[in-house]
Amino acid sequence: MTPANPGPEARTVRIFDTTLRDGEQSPGASMNLTEKVEIAQALVQLGVDVIEAGFPIASPGDFASVRDIARTVSTVTVCGLARCNDTDIDRAWEALAAAARPRIHVFLATSSIHREFKLRMTEEEVLARAVAGVRRARNLCADVEFSPEDAARTEIDFLCRVVEAVIDAGATTVNIPDTVGYATPSQMRHVIASLRDRVPNVDRAVISVHCHDDLGLAVANSLAAVEAGAGQIECTINGLGERAGNCSLEEVVMALRTRRDHYHVDTGVVTQRLVPTSRLVANITGIQVPRNKAVVGRNAFAHESGIHQDGMLKERRTYEIMRPEDVGLERTDLVLGKHSGRAALADRAAALGYRLTPEQLPTVFERFKALADRKKEIYDGDIAALCEQQFAALPEHFTFEGYSLSCASGSAPTVELRVLQSGAPRSVTVTAGDGPIDGIFLAIEKLTGIQTVCRDFRVQAVTVGKDAQAEVTVELEQVDGERPGAVHRGRGVSTDSLEASAKAFLAAINRVALGGQPRLHPQRT
Ligand SMILES: [Zn+2]
Repeated sequence: MTPANPGPEARTVRIFDTTLRDGEQSPGASMNLTEKVEIAQALVQLGVDVIEAGFPIASPGDFASVRDIARTVSTVTVCGLARCNDTDIDRAWEALAAAARPRIHVFLATSSIHREFKLRMTEEEVLARAVAGVRRARNLCADVEFSPEDAARTEIDFLCRVVEAVIDAGATTVNIPDTVGYATPSQMRHVIASLRDRVPNVDRAVISVHCHDDLGLAVANSLAAVEAGAGQIECTINGLGERAGNCSLEEVVMALRTRRDHYHVDTGVVTQRLVPTSRLVANITGIQVPRNKAVVGRNAFAHESGIHQDGMLKERRTYEIMRPEDVGLERTDLVLGKHSGRAALADRAAALGYRLTPEQLPTVFERFKALADRKKEIYDGDIAALCEQQFAALPEHFTFEGYSLSCASGSAPTVELRVLQSGAPRSVTVTAGDGPIDGIFLAIEKLTGIQTVCRDFRVQAVTVGKDAQAEVTVELEQVDGERPGAVHRGRGVSTDSLEASAKAFLAAINRVALGGQPRLHPQRT
């Protein structure tokens, strides 16, 4: 990255991305293996230092994701989370063993409230367990991170003892989590400064922070920790994470870059990749960022007021502290049309953050041509939607074929729905529901025999214009089967919004039909 404000004595702070672990704990944000590997590759391009790929003991899916990312990512450290016990640590190592740069991340709660009510352990017992866990991890892996869970609410004297002991036991990074999002910036600064003053061997490890956003302070708390000397920030794309989420990567990185005069810190992040990565994660998780979100929101650089616009035209810096192009925001996004070729499509897709394999390109190109027949101008958003359908493709139990529908206000619609079930054509006709979308949903339920409750239904235009593609996202809650209560997401894109709805419902139903391993939900940092 080219520093915006060059200055002397800048140090480098590591960016530890936990979108695939803590971020995935956002309600409704679970991702499949292909999606996780795709995000990991985008994080490598973004220039993060560490990717926390999952929690291997939590589920076979988490294990597979850490293992596959460890195998495919060679230039960035790949980290797996483990509770402080032998089984977890050994399982994490099993998933990480093939990594070029593996890291085991061990955590154990240290605050009095967790010691007393959750662990039922004394200070001495917690200390001994932490040391034993770090030693075991260190015997397997040279790079070991330890997190005293709920550190921000841990008595500072005890925290200093724990940090000293785990560094002695071989921890190379010690992460200070504000697990419940309770800290304030001055408190965080004090905790980090105290550790640096009072822990005699502190220079042998990198001190890290992991802040949650329950009070909207995660970025401010992380920056305060950097002021006090923290050398690693744990964060997620779009601030995803448990509850209100984590420190947002794009915000903390741009704060450090824009105010380099104040923080004297660099990161290795390629800031021009921030917007494409944010969009990729938003589209894969279905959790869109608010328009007014700092750095990556659609309005983050939109100057509405006349006075501001006038100033901007005279000199951009009157009202602009960052340049849109520095975060990868496109100035103009009208790009391709009917006559564009395969190479142009691959180029544009790559610029948007999608690397199409030689196997994927022909399929995406075919869909692109079909779309170009239906709409005149193909925008970046359209190309992103085409690529994502390719990446997010699960093996389909039910594949949408077509529908016909008759409806009028005041009476139930009649829907005929056609699908392929494992390749064999099937159809159903129902007359039911409040309007066409409800009718399609009921037809799908009847045809597949899978009962769900629709928890969320959203339609948005992928781009602009009357012929824009509609993107529908749904969340369906499973009613019976192996995992009642589980929430499954589905997306569908089409220039026909009813077809997009049917595809989205079927995509979610496919996730139900394919089942999935139940996840363990242990306490997490
Ligand atoms: Zn967390």
